[in-house]
Amino acid sequence: MSKKRWTDQEIIKAIEAVEQWQKNEHLHPLTCRSNSQHPPLVAWPVEGMVVLACTECSYIQEIPQVVLIANEPS
Ligand SMILES: [Zn+2]
Repeated sequence: MSKKRWTDQEIIKAIEAVEQWQKNEHLHPLTCRSNSQHPPLVAWPVEGMVVLACTECSYIQEIPQVVLIANEPS
């Protein structure tokens, strides 16, 4: 996992990408792996980057690359 800090633009794009993914009913939502009953994960800016975080517990994970590039113009 890269430790380089993300630019403000990368952070904004990542948050938007996660929001788009999570509300797209054709895609499987990213969910908490500690408890599948928890609500879908949300984008969470932390230490110059963005991760996926559960709002119900302390579970966090990196944002999968497939999510980050899902809304890139092709
Ligand atoms: Zn959770």
